[in-house]
Amino acid sequence: MAMTPAPASYEVVVLPGDGIGVEVMDAGVAVLRAVAEPLGLRFDLDFHRAGANAYKETGVAIADSVMTAAGNADAILFGAMGLPDVRRDDGTEIAPQIDLRERFGLVAGVRPATLLPGIDPVLYAPKVDFVTVRESTEGLFAGRNDPPSGDPDVEHDRMTITRSASETLFDVSFSLAAARRRAGGPGRVTLFDKANVLKSQAFLRRIFDEVAERHPGIETERVYVDAGVMMMVREPERFDVVVTENMFGDIVSDLAAGITGGLGLAPSADIGRDHAVFQPCHGSAPDIAGRDLANPVGMILSVAMMLDWLGERHSDGRCLDAARRVRAAVDATLAAGTRTRDVGGTAGTTSFTEAVVAAL
Ligand code: ATP
Repeated sequence: MAMTPAPASYEVVVLPGDGIGVEVMDAGVAVLRAVAEPLGLRFDLDFHRAGANAYKETGVAIADSVMTAAGNADAILFGAMGLPDVRRDDGTEIAPQIDLRERFGLVAGVRPATLLPGIDPVLYAPKVDFVTVRESTEGLFAGRNDPPSGDPDVEHDRMTITRSASETLFDVSFSLAAARRRAGGPGRVTLFDKANVLKSQAFLRRIFDEVAERHPGIETERVYVDAGVMMMVREPERFDVVVTENMFGDIVSDLAAGITGGLGLAPSADIGRDHAVFQPCHGSAPDIAGRDLANPVGMILSVAMMLDWLGERHSDGRCLDAARRVRAAVDATLAAGTRTRDVGGTAGTTSFTEAVVAAL
């Protein structure tokens, strides 16, 4: 991935979006500001409206000017977008996150699954610490804008795998495994596919094998996705980096969030060669929006992922230090028993965030 020197100030486009996206973004920004200042790190935060509410008001979910600003920024922070009652005329949901992934080639959806202090995992899982990398621009979502079949009795979707997106996807996955190995992890990449049935998936596996040859220090494993999800539940400790196609990744990453304690805790990053978007795994959760009930951990840990990505990309030790501090502050807050309601506590979004800022 391209390496550029650290700027005097990092330009970050901030898209809070809809529902609880707005509340968790307030939390993420408060933590980012608190961690940056003592380290002499500067962030220029450029807030924009986009999403279902913006669509309702203006007829446009994400304006071209916002796309341009996002393309020029060092990183993009994203809350959540889409509301069940706001849809396009053809019935599709408002999902600018998919437009961003496609526009900026954010091929790799990186979704860590880690057990956090004070959180009971849903299953008995002594050790869960792996990352799912979901291909995010093609696979079974490739034909989402294809015209209807025209036949009232049949509808199709198409699975497209390209060499170019797959190589980027696997490069990100192997780099991640190497970075995790430097931090004491096993350094293993597992491919989940359906190469025994689908041609596109056999092709994906061939590209995986080619990329794997360029990374001899990293162990590899190839598992059919159906067997893989069973292993994920029964022996999650065997996984380090799990990489898979778009639709499989959509399902597998939510399963991973589920076994570690719930959607509110899960961060993510959509990474391409030159751009990245950082957002919690959850959606806009309209059922709890505006009531100080949203768990901001997923968003705050997404800010930590942004700091890590900027730090690696610009060789900026201050960003790496800031990421470590944010994670330690979240761990300390949870370990002290401060938790939001979705994970068995009584704290609100605001009081939880204040506790994290105090721990910093
Ligand atoms: P999308 O389709 O946009 O991904 P979704 O329909 O899968 O969204 P979410 O909005 O992610 O659903 O949330 C599902 C449910 O999980 C919510 O209704 C809410 O009750 C709970 N939830 C999600 N995120 C959080 C959070 N941060 N804090 C607390 N509860 C949450």
